[in-house]
Amino acid sequence: MTDTAATVRPERRAELAAGLARVRARIADACAAAGRDRSEVTLVAVTKTYPAGDVVALAGLGVTDVGENRDQEAAPKAAEVAAAGVSPRWHFIGQLQRNKCRSVARYADVVQSVDSVRLAAALDAAAAAAGRDRPLDVLVQVSIDGDPARGGALPDSADPDRGLGPVAEAVAGAGALRLGGLMAVAPLGWEPDRAFTRLAEVAQRFRVRHPEATALSAGMSGDLETAIGYGATHIRVGSALLGMRPTLR
Ligand SMILES: *Cc1c(COP(=O)(O)O)cnc(C)c1O
Repeated sequence: MTDTAATVRPERRAELAAGLARVRARIADACAAAGRDRSEVTLVAVTKTYPAGDVVALAGLGVTDVGENRDQEAAPKAAEVAAAGVSPRWHFIGQLQRNKCRSVARYADVVQSVDSVRLAAALDAAAAAAGRDRPLDVLVQVSIDGDPARGGALPDSADPDRGLGPVAEAVAGAGALRLGGLMAVAPLGWEPDRAFTRLAEVAQRFRVRHPEATALSAGMSGDLETAIGYGATHIRVGSALLGMRPTLR
C-alpha cells in the first residue's frame, strides 16, 4: 500500500475489524447450520456512502470483494483505491442506466444488476470498447415478486426485453460478457424464507439451461443467514460491516 489520502484513523480500522469479525462469524455459523463449506460463500462488502479509505482498510483486513451501487460515487472511489495500490474485485450492484455502461465497464469486475436485453447489449458494447483483458462477469438480477415496475428480470415472462430467459441468453451470447449466475434482493415486506425459497426454485430451473452459471448473489445485513441456507454463493453486506448509512438508498 502506498501513502495516499485513502487512509483511515486507527479507531476506524478497529471498528471495521470488529464489524468484519462479527460478519465472518455469522457466515461461518450459517454455513455450519446449512452443512455448507465456508469457501462456498464470498462476502461482498457494500461500501456505498463510505470513503475509499474504508475500502483500503477492509482490503488490508482480507476483504477481496466490494460492492457499489452508483457509478458517480464508484468511479472516483475505484480510482482512489487503485492509486493506493489496492485492487479488490469491484461488483456493481445498483440499477444501471445504459449511458453509464462505458464508465462501469472500466472499473467493474462484476456487474450484478443486468435485467434487460437492451442493458446487456449496451454493457457488451461498453466492455468491448473498454479494451478489457477478459470478459466482464455478469449476474442477471431477477425479480422475486415479479413486479415489472421494479428492478429485475421476470422469471415467468416471455417479454423479449425483460424476461429472464431472453436476458440470460443475451448475456450468454455476448462476446465481451460472461454469464456468472443470478442476483436478487428480497422484496420489501416478504419474509426472507419465502423470498429465498422462491429464488432457489428460479435458480434451479435457470441452471438446467446454464449449468456453468452457478453464482447466486442474495442476502444482505439482515437476512444473510437465510440466504446462505438457500444456497447463496455471494452475500452483499453493508451496514453490518461498515455501520448504518446516513441515508437510506
Ligand atoms: C445497499 C445494498 C446492499 C447492502 O445492504 P445492507 O442492508 O446495508 O447490508 C445489498 N445489496 C444491494 C443491491 C444494495 O443496494
